[in-house]
Amino acid sequence: MIVASALDELRIWRHGSDGDVGFVPTMGALHKGHVSLVQQSRATCDSTAVSIYINPTQFDNADDLASYPETLQKDLDTLEGLGVDCVFVPTYEVLYPDDFAYQVEERGFSNTLCGAHRPSHFTGVLTVVMKLLNLVRPDKAFFGEKDFQQLTLIRNMVDAFFMDVEIVGCPTVREPDGLAMSSRNLNLAPADRQQAPIFREILEKATSDDDARRQLGEAGFVVDYVETIEGRRLGAVSVGAADRSVRLIDNITLEL
Ligand code: AMP
Repeated sequence: MIVASALDELRIWRHGSDGDVGFVPTMGALHKGHVSLVQQSRATCDSTAVSIYINPTQFDNADDLASYPETLQKDLDTLEGLGVDCVFVPTYEVLYPDDFAYQVEERGFSNTLCGAHRPSHFTGVLTVVMKLLNLVRPDKAFFGEKDFQQLTLIRNMVDAFFMDVEIVGCPTVREPDGLAMSSRNLNLAPADRQQAPIFREILEKATSDDDARRQLGEAGFVVDYVETIEGRRLGAVSVGAADRSVRLIDNITLEL
């Protein structure tokens, strides 16, 4: 497995790879959700690249960035075990030679749901994903449905800019108790970890978005939003005391 931190190392690997290239962008602290994306790439492409980069431009909150978990050596061991061909681990200087002067901004959907609560978050996401896709030049790129708004915005960006890559959405992988796997779950205090699966349960069982918001509030979550769009109920909440609260997002398809 090649671990590339410089652009030239990545380009040499890309130049030498035949057949379909699959790509899985991540921020590391890998869990079974990331593993499922890598496995899907391995199953459908001839070679697989993964990036690990905690992208500062998508964090609207300095504490969230500072506390984002980092497990690089463990992640590299996991990816080697999965048969990944190349891991791209860039620095800010490598990815942002323009110091973020050039940005990809979506002016509609990105300002709703998570975007309404995290100003400029999706500009950071779309900009880094555009850069990574331009560098890796994959045939397919794999993204999780857990981040459904992100997946939709990336699909629409690829269409809008005529980018030659297939965006593949992959189902949400959950803990046995139903909590959607997320790197931020590592930051949950034990009592908050116990409470967290109730979020998904309420999204599933509530009779309406209003009912879900009410039940979540009563269960002690701070609700950012719950909204149903085209048969999918999406939500974001925070759990835990203010000084160590963790933001959870999830979405489920409603039975019609
Ligand atoms: P992140 O490292 O959180 O930026 O996520 C990298 C990729 O993994 C994104 O496409 C996420 O949507 C996806 N992902 C994160 N959690 C899960 C999960 N529980 N199930 C499936 N995919 C996930």
